[in-house]
Amino acid sequence: MNRSQLRGRVQTVCGLIDPERLGQTLMHEHLLSDLRTPEARKVNEPEEPISLENVWAINYGRKKHRMQYVLDMKDIAVVEMNALRKLGGDTVVELTCGGIRPDPKGLADIQLGTGVNIIMGCGYYVEEYQDPSNKTRSVDDFAREIVGQVFDGAWGTNVRAGIIGEIGSQNPWTDLEKTVMRGAVIAQKETGAALNIHPGRREDLPLEIANTVKEWGADLSRTIISHIDRTILDVEPLLRLAETGVVLEFDMFGVENTYYPLKESVDLPNDGMRLRLIRALLDRGHLDQVVISHDIDCRTRLVNFGGHGYGHILENVVPLMRARDFSQEEIDGILVENPKRLLTFV
Ligand SMILES: [Zn+2]
Repeated sequence: MNRSQLRGRVQTVCGLIDPERLGQTLMHEHLLSDLRTPEARKVNEPEEPISLENVWAINYGRKKHRMQYVLDMKDIAVVEMNALRKLGGDTVVELTCGGIRPDPKGLADIQLGTGVNIIMGCGYYVEEYQDPSNKTRSVDDFAREIVGQVFDGAWGTNVRAGIIGEIGSQNPWTDLEKTVMRGAVIAQKETGAALNIHPGRREDLPLEIANTVKEWGADLSRTIISHIDRTILDVEPLLRLAETGVVLEFDMFGVENTYYPLKESVDLPNDGMRLRLIRALLDRGHLDQVVISHDIDCRTRLVNFGGHGYGHILENVVPLMRARDFSQEEIDGILVENPKRLLTFV
């Protein structure tokens, strides 16, 4: 694959498709991933199964379950994708990248088995999850690897990535993560793919990252900052970030707890509050810069384990949007047109 073959097309895990076939698109999900910390992966004791008695406590986040952050059940992923398809979901962007166990062949099997288009990410997640040997690598080395993942195939397979990311940043943003990010920005320029960034948990870090990658040459209109809804909780800093031209992703739809185990001082919004923040962006003319998703990364958010599943936005959030006077043009902009623009190679 080369740049001119990709231009104007979308790259799924089963090959190129016409952008018109994308339809309603979830911009940030995980189907097969392992988000256990490196230490948690070493523990191997038996553990009680997830059940009706413990599923709420595990999902709330105070009760820890070691397998909660392991999505390795392809058969269940197929059932969940078929349920999404029945609700009108056409495409899922799967951002499991280096450090959290990407499974490109598994994703291709899921697309083949369900007909849901799957667009795979590439590059590396936050430093905590990366192999320490990455610390000795150069910007150009990462750039070559990421370009290869888009043009030739990723993680030892011939399955090619259709987007770059989610490229990780912790708080503070580490030197290794900056090296990877510079490589990802070069790869964005060389491939014409969109770039998705996972920012560390600090309100002003997304703005710092957006300004920095812009200096490095990133196209901010094709750069997405993930997890806005656990990072920026007020309208004013949100609008300041939007002024840069970067795309803002609200990707925790379905999470309605106040309690956030990864940063207990944060009050997580619920879906209604997410829609209020999005409304504020639309009212200032930023419709082109908003995308949404669930970022499902654990078992208890799957329907199979009593959770809301990948269909929650289409089944429950879109009706909320209508009840809050979002126009059809706005809903389509967020779920169809913006994903189409971002996922089409330039
Ligand atoms: Zn993610």
